[in-house]
Amino acid sequence: MKIYTSPYPAPALPKCSAFTYIFSGSDFECTEHKTAFIDTVTGRTISRGDFKALCLQWGYGLRNEFSGLKVKRGDTVMIFSPNSFAFPLLLHGSVAAGLRVTLANSSYVPYELAYQYKDSNAKLVFAHPTLLPVALKMFEEVYGAKAKEEARKRIIIAGGSGWGSVTAEQEKALAAMKETEGLTWMQEMLGHGTLSREELFEGDQVNETAYLCYSSGTTGRPKGVETTHHNVTTHAEMLIKVWDLTSSKDVMLGFLPFYHIFGLTGLLHHPLTQKAPLAIMPGFHPEAWCVNVQKYKITSMMVVPPVLVVLTNYSALDKYDLRSINLMVSGAAPLGGPLVKKFKERLLSVGATAADVVQGYGLTETTPTAFLLPAKDALRKVGSIGLMLPHLEARLVNEDDVDIDETKEESGELWLRGPSVMKGYLGNTESTRNSITSDGWFKTGDVAQVDDEGFWWIVDRRKELIKYKGFQVPPAELESLLLQHPDIIDVAVIGVESEQEATEVPRAYVVHRNPASLKSQQDRDAFEKNVQQWVQGRVAKHKYLRGGVAVIDVIPKSAAGKILRRLLRDRAKTEVGAV
Ligand code: AMP
Repeated sequence: MKIYTSPYPAPALPKCSAFTYIFSGSDFECTEHKTAFIDTVTGRTISRGDFKALCLQWGYGLRNEFSGLKVKRGDTVMIFSPNSFAFPLLLHGSVAAGLRVTLANSSYVPYELAYQYKDSNAKLVFAHPTLLPVALKMFEEVYGAKAKEEARKRIIIAGGSGWGSVTAEQEKALAAMKETEGLTWMQEMLGHGTLSREELFEGDQVNETAYLCYSSGTTGRPKGVETTHHNVTTHAEMLIKVWDLTSSKDVMLGFLPFYHIFGLTGLLHHPLTQKAPLAIMPGFHPEAWCVNVQKYKITSMMVVPPVLVVLTNYSALDKYDLRSINLMVSGAAPLGGPLVKKFKERLLSVGATAADVVQGYGLTETTPTAFLLPAKDALRKVGSIGLMLPHLEARLVNEDDVDIDETKEESGELWLRGPSVMKGYLGNTESTRNSITSDGWFKTGDVAQVDDEGFWWIVDRRKELIKYKGFQVPPAELESLLLQHPDIIDVAVIGVESEQEATEVPRAYVVHRNPASLKSQQDRDAFEKNVQQWVQGRVAKHKYLRGGVAVIDVIPKSAAGKILRRLLRDRAKTEVGAV
């Protein structure tokens, strides 16, 4: 068995909570005045010192019944919000209070939200004002006749009034709604008192869960990934070694979603740990991106490949001064060499010569970053996910779990081991056992290879997962939904490439209950369209069947009844090529 190790020396690992790690360093007092966050919508800023103080106030509010419900250490609270100025406070303040935080995708429909709310056993929901209708509908699904009563105890409206981007009209409408529903606004939770200090996590307590992001892993429905305080602080130490933000000029731009582990750790932890300001955007828009890069002299940011496609094609790029950017880190999905080259050429053509574009790789289950391409190798090793981060070990195994150094194959499934690997899937020992071996190897479901210089490449994916613009689309979830369609008796969902958008898109193969009723091509087309529309409105946007729907006689399956997805992927290539 060949075990690959990281080329980096391993840093000492902290033994404290994620909150203590960020704010209790000996240099805190010298850095209190530094800006922690900038709201690009309102221009409001907050210093590290004021932010920490507010976190302790937020924690006090939560622990002392101002929400109508007293939560205790170890309870779970849910954040349901797009990026906003309030988000970091909701997150770090809750951790300061010793709570676990589950982060929900802000485009979820009530049914998806209900699944995560119940599965994570969340006690409170911090809902962004614009998402309140979804949260209330979710409460109706979960609590029925008691929905209003429970909402009054459990929902806190988080944002607006200087805490994020809500239009005046939206705010007025919500204020009226508040009167009818009697809900709490986050502002009402602050100013009652303060925790004297954050909840401590010492010794083995660092292995208690801090975050619960949801991931389908290699198979099945989304599961709560138990990310511990130790995972978070370890990951921070690993990242510091390879991604430095300590120059006084460093300012990071945050538009990728904070609720995904990539944004959660890369945007809400990494700059705060390194004392660099984060300029918060509610989401990605090319014009706002250019305006903010120029205005705040952004030096560093995280991207996903589709963002680079949009920027490459954005005609007004040359109207802005983008020279401050020195590093763009792409992750969450494969970033191809040709796209990097095209984007770099475009950046060069508008005078932004210093910017390096590198790729990282990781999973929710690995907190996430496990590999990162050093900036100095950005062009030489374009397309590679770079070097393995400190403290990690890797193996490459074939389909029979035999290490490829024994079989002489070139690539194999990547298995990872180290202190940033999750504790397990919440309440799901079987899935945990299937994904982490008894000696600690986590099976990523991705196929990788490594070159002679120790640079790694992701070459395929063995697991079911589809990724649309970095967002997870678990086929099992869409399949079980489609089986509820009255005319569908069997189904398989796969991912097909969209070269244009640099992403995969989900495509469904469906077996019709009464195939004879589809007499003409027109009938088939109409049915396929109907299925596509039927799915919309029932799931979040990133799960729409953008890769199309195709009627098929029978879903190919193994003797054990497992869908033979590779056969369908090959079939899709001949039917649609690249979408
Ligand atoms: P998530 O848990 O949502 O972060 O998804 C993790 C999955 O995203 C991985 O298992 C990969 O399949 C995919 N992924 C993340 N980063 C990369 C990358 N740089 N190249 C290829 N696939 C990636």
